[in-house]
Amino acid sequence: MILAIQAKLEPMHNRLKPTVGIALPALLLAVLFGCTQPAMQSSHDVIVVGAGIAGLSAALEAAEHGAKVLVLEANSVGGGHAVIAGGFAMVDTELQRKKGYTDSPEIAFKDMMAWGETADPYWVRRYARESGTDVYDWLTDAGAEFVVLIDTPEDTVPRFHFTRGTAVNVVVPLMRKAFNNPDIEFMWNTRVTALAKTRGTITGVVAVNERTGARGYHSAPSVVLATGGFQNNLDMVRANWPTDRMLPDRLLKGAGQFATGDGYVLAEWAGADMRRMDRQVTFYNGVPNPRDKTGTTALVTENPAAIWVDSNGRRFMSESGDSKAMAAAVDKLKPVSFWMLFDTNGARRLGLRGAPWIDRNAVKRYILDNPVITAKGVTLRELALKSGLPEHGIRTTIETWNRMVKVGTDFQFNRFNEEHKPRGIQSLSKAPYYALRIYPLTRKSMGGPAIDTMGRVVDADDQPVPGLYAAGELTGVAGINGSHGGAGTFLGPSVFTGRIAGRTAALESAGKTSQGLTLTKSNDALIEQAAADGKRPGYWHFDVSHRLGSERKYSCDNCHNASIPMRMAADRKEMLARLSTCTQCH
Ligand SMILES: Cc1cc2nc3c(=O)[nH]c(=O)nc-3n(C[C@H](O)[C@H](O)[C@H](O)COP(=O)(O)OP(=O)(O)OC[C@H]3O[C@@H](n4cnc5c(N)ncnc54)[C@H](O)[C@@H]3O)c2cc1C
Repeated sequence: MILAIQAKLEPMHNRLKPTVGIALPALLLAVLFGCTQPAMQSSHDVIVVGAGIAGLSAALEAAEHGAKVLVLEANSVGGGHAVIAGGFAMVDTELQRKKGYTDSPEIAFKDMMAWGETADPYWVRRYARESGTDVYDWLTDAGAEFVVLIDTPEDTVPRFHFTRGTAVNVVVPLMRKAFNNPDIEFMWNTRVTALAKTRGTITGVVAVNERTGARGYHSAPSVVLATGGFQNNLDMVRANWPTDRMLPDRLLKGAGQFATGDGYVLAEWAGADMRRMDRQVTFYNGVPNPRDKTGTTALVTENPAAIWVDSNGRRFMSESGDSKAMAAAVDKLKPVSFWMLFDTNGARRLGLRGAPWIDRNAVKRYILDNPVITAKGVTLRELALKSGLPEHGIRTTIETWNRMVKVGTDFQFNRFNEEHKPRGIQSLSKAPYYALRIYPLTRKSMGGPAIDTMGRVVDADDQPVPGLYAAGELTGVAGINGSHGGAGTFLGPSVFTGRIAGRTAALESAGKTSQGLTLTKSNDALIEQAAADGKRPGYWHFDVSHRLGSERKYSCDNCHNASIPMRMAADRKEMLARLSTCTQCH
């Protein structure tokens, strides 16, 4: 029997160098790895790797097309990044019509191509044409209720859709629908470490249960990768940094725990052509998360009462510029970082996002009164000494700013003038003064394994890799964003590409069985690394949610009752009951 093995996923997936696929006889494998060949655990028509919004959409669509589906998820809960995300860009929807806006595929196509600059016209056209039905109507039928539309700089017609709250209100109905479907099975804490390949066709996966360490082989003639982006893997972000942009000395992580990039390594090994890997959404409004001892993760900040200065203490752009203008301006700074200056009045307007524990008191305690993060001075001289900014620079900038506020016009960057007076414009004159240093943060991936129009992963010659499909942020949502991420253009396209991949995977699996056991080494090193870092592999969500509950002084019955016992859900009924607790934190 010919077996294929995948070289172990490198512990940090630190760059996308080709991983090795070697055909070896079984005996040799056994010699190499001892008796580590994992036992066959299951056989399905379609395996979906990742239970984020793309994976859930793929699973539902595959089941709808007659497939028996297994979803393998590394986390102990589903939803992926969508549970911490906001809104969806969708075109020509009932909500837009209800609010009196006329949108159309033609207008949306123009907007998206102009904003993204290098977006894939095929996918943009298709998304613009079909998202009103295939995303909006489909999600609405599943139980999501969109009620709010937000106008954004890239759209000539408001098309950034929100529920009452965040996208958790979309993911929970999707999970409910999937948990109610008897053709979809879930395995939690189960991280796929390798793809199984037999005679050039993907035939299954090897996965490890991160809590128990048990490994298993799961077979299916179709495997959909929906593992999300790689923005929590700083080594991978740096290795794929665009050559025309300055690599910041300090880059904070602004994506979720599970955006490790696993799927990129797996897809590349299987023969996928990796495209647009350097297109990455970077935000320029991060402060180090004060509760992260490693100093690598970010909170997102904003303060409409602040002015932004470079290392010379000079303003360098209008503080109300859009994300594209901001990226262009901050990228040119040396170092790629800036300071928000504000006074005591402005301190009240400092906002933070990115962690559920943040409230007004936490902002003061962890940020404003924290000398590691914020410099504070009763005089500008003291502020300069503590922040390292030149006193002359910040003094001149603040005096000029205060004069412009008095006359009502920003002569430097036209942030405000006689006709346009945005909120928050105020002089900086009430001590103490603050200088909060801002760093870039990683956020979303806009490239990945190439897919064809049916969601099949393709190689450099555009030929499908048999048995392998991909969707969601892993694919850079099919190039819909081009070089600049838009508002809501990840969630909607993740659903869209998820449905397409799930459908094709189901249809192409019909009548096929996957045969031929394959073998891989697992990424044990990665799990050992997590343990060495003091993390408990497989317990991340458990630990975070219970710590938050204890900080908020919840009693156990806030989340647990007879239907939600204090252990992993044992069946569908318990999985469904648990969904009522998601909005306690999200
Ligand atoms: C803070 C934040 C806010 C955002 N806000 C918005 C917004 O308002 N609008 C918008 O359009 N986009 C937004 N985005 C982006 C958007 O949330 C994501 O692009 C989208 O959710 C991606 O969905 P996905 O299913 O492709 O991947 P993910 O949500 O990342 O899900 C992938 C899943 O795969 C699992 N997984 C990974 N590796 C493995 C493995 N080896 N084995 C098994 N499972 C694995 C992960 O645990 C995860 O559950 C935001 C992103 C962030 C970080």
